[in-house]
Amino acid sequence: MAVYGFGGSATVGVVGGGQLGAMLAEESGKAGLPHEFLFLDPMPGCPASGYGRQIVAELYDARAIAELGRQCRILTCEIEHVSVEGLRAAERNGIPVYPSAKTLEIIQDKRRQYEFLESGGLPVPDFLLPEREEDLILIGRDLGYPFMLKAATGGYDGRGNYPVKNEADAKNAWQYFVGRGTVAQKWVPFKKEVSFIAARDWSGNIASYPVRENHHKDSILIYSVVPAMISASVAKDAEDIGYAAAQMLGDAGIVCVEMFVLPDGKVYVNEIAPRVHNSGHDTMDSCRTSQFEQHIRAITGMPLGSTEMPHPAAVMHNILGDPGYSGGYVMAIPDCLGETGVRVHMYGKREVRPGRKMGHLAVVGNNPEELVRKSQEARRTIRFVPAGSAARR
Ligand code: ATP
Ligand code: MG
Repeated sequence: MAVYGFGGSATVGVVGGGQLGAMLAEESGKAGLPHEFLFLDPMPGCPASGYGRQIVAELYDARAIAELGRQCRILTCEIEHVSVEGLRAAERNGIPVYPSAKTLEIIQDKRRQYEFLESGGLPVPDFLLPEREEDLILIGRDLGYPFMLKAATGGYDGRGNYPVKNEADAKNAWQYFVGRGTVAQKWVPFKKEVSFIAARDWSGNIASYPVRENHHKDSILIYSVVPAMISASVAKDAEDIGYAAAQMLGDAGIVCVEMFVLPDGKVYVNEIAPRVHNSGHDTMDSCRTSQFEQHIRAITGMPLGSTEMPHPAAVMHNILGDPGYSGGYVMAIPDCLGETGVRVHMYGKREVRPGRKMGHLAVVGNNPEELVRKSQEARRTIRFVPAGSAARR
């Protein structure tokens, strides 16, 4: 039986109140069954707070998450760095939680996550688990240099990653993660990064989106192109691996599998995000059912929607804060963004910071390469004008 309706008992609780939470609420109405939302986030006035009530608490506050569960019919997360204990308490109280405490426990710790993927026979780059500084020297001999040392928990936008260049660098790397668990991963000389996004419903049906390719700068996603410009056989491999990962987790909701494609076409899993993903933001404008609507359908027991793309191609381009200014701002969004096929989504963040995700552009059309150019041109026309500056017109 599907879960829907208004009022406290039918509220969807979301751990995290950033732009992903906001877009979940924004798109929920399109599922045909509008829900009320309650967000848990430490920042009063977080981006999602315009779309529902908010509990102001830390994401690792187990008691606050348990309380969120008591006020909701169903719980979900828009970020994986949350208290598993809190989710488990909600599950004990009979609240359906998607992704489950068990899934998040596996995903949160990259050591556990890679072991899980490997145990299921999925291709992951070789990894080793260092316990002391000296281990890094042995690991360097085994994996070769450079290798990637990753924080086991809490990393995002590459901030928990350290490329270890040589034996001398190993000491710096160990210092960088002092007191934190780490995992050492073989360096992957990838040709492309791609992601597979799919929703799994309560019965195990899976609806997937076409594989997309992702372009990062300084480990932050800049733009995604769909369909990925890869051969049909590589796309098939990525789909098969992504599908298998989603079934192995066996949860409900959106799951994103990030993958590396090597020059010879071999595909490796980088990591799994059991939630809506930045590389799928274009689906709001490019697919019949966005990843956000699909997630709400999947976790509330509704049938999954069509993932068909009315246009052959789409690009999602992040709008990041420009270097050199932090603070209040007004947006200068030129009229050309009213052009057919270009849409701008801003997240309502009150302050801009260099590299901060402030919004995204979605461009749809026929030719992926042309759409990339179009999205880059559109991005260049958007400006953050410091609040109160003379430039404001
Ligand atoms: P996210 O922003 O997805 O949360 P994260 O902080 O969890 O990222 P990863 O996804 O592990 O970190 O890595 C971030 C980026 O660093 C990858 O997208 C890739 O570009 C690069 N990277 C990660 N692992 C490797 C590797 N073994 N070899 C080469 N590059 C890597
Ligand atoms: Mg990643």
